[in-house]
Amino acid sequence: MVDYTIVYGRECQSYDFGPHHPFTPLRGAMLTDLLRELDAFDSVVEPEQATRDEIISIHAEAFVRRVEAASTGQVYPDSLQYGLGTSDVPVFRGMHDATRWVVGGTLSAARLISSGQTHRALHLAGGLHHAHRNFASGFCVYNDVAVAIGHLLQAGYERIAYLDIDAHHGDGVQALFYEDPCVLTISLHESGQYLFPGTGFPDEVGAGLGLGTALNLPLMPSTGHKSYLQIFDACVPTVLKHFAPQVMVVECGADAHSRDPLAHLQLTSHTFAELFLRILELADDCVDGSILMHLGGGYDLDVTSRVWAILALMVQGMSLPEQVPRAWHSRWERRLRRSLQARLHEVISSPEATARLHDKNHRMAMQALENLFAYR
Ligand SMILES: [Zn+2]
Repeated sequence: MVDYTIVYGRECQSYDFGPHHPFTPLRGAMLTDLLRELDAFDSVVEPEQATRDEIISIHAEAFVRRVEAASTGQVYPDSLQYGLGTSDVPVFRGMHDATRWVVGGTLSAARLISSGQTHRALHLAGGLHHAHRNFASGFCVYNDVAVAIGHLLQAGYERIAYLDIDAHHGDGVQALFYEDPCVLTISLHESGQYLFPGTGFPDEVGAGLGLGTALNLPLMPSTGHKSYLQIFDACVPTVLKHFAPQVMVVECGADAHSRDPLAHLQLTSHTFAELFLRILELADDCVDGSILMHLGGGYDLDVTSRVWAILALMVQGMSLPEQVPRAWHSRWERRLRRSLQARLHEVISSPEATARLHDKNHRMAMQALENLFAYR
């Protein structure tokens, strides 16, 4: 049995763009409430807030200054150039501190691994994978994932594998390590032809010393359970084993689910359960169980609660109940004034991609592998 640690700080809920923004702190509130009801929230480790120096280890100081200013209600005239004050990343009071809590959670989880205190760490927040060195983007202010990977590099890891199953391309993390031979980035996402951020194509394979350390697997809209898992199985284990990482970092966004309002993939809770199982097994096989997992996108509150509860239960080696606890279900139905699913898993499977769609996915994936292995 692999040891595990769950990391979560309530302060993460201050990362809040306002009541009409999809990246709502209700996601964390519902998830942690559900895990408490499932007796899966014991001995959770409180993170430390990331310091300004830790943020600057990844981000440009000029950008951090704009975020700090925006946090106090002062707005630089050039803030928009730094991605601040857009509809995706509206500024809010306390933004700098709130994001430092999110970064601190993923960083604390990384520290627990690098110090040998745990093999398997899950941060029940984070995954701000669109944030770039110089600018905020796609609901992401600072890149907690990159700060955590930077820490692992500093701690002496020489080969780190980052895997991103969020529906959107993990562009920020890829860009920050694009020329770094020590960091392999793998992203499965809805094709950038159809979805933000418009990147993540098979010809993006890294640059300079990092050539051959980025794998992008763009998928057609409507890709469902079967095609997704086939592409995953055909590419991810081979590339991971070839790279021979010492630790894995995994973005577990839930917005590839069929009910997500912001993307067009068709995964179900069953697909996610199968994915989490494969990822944990790959960690056992490739990195002796050393794996840092965190959340990411996901904008249907019913889906995110159930999919991430499945993740947290699996990380802790707990069995999955058929139903969500009744008390949680009625509490949140009342609060949200919408119906929530009583079962943990969905009963109905999503429509499957046609053979033509799968062929397209497969061709893209094979192209990505060919491009990558040309440099490895
Ligand atoms: Zn996303």
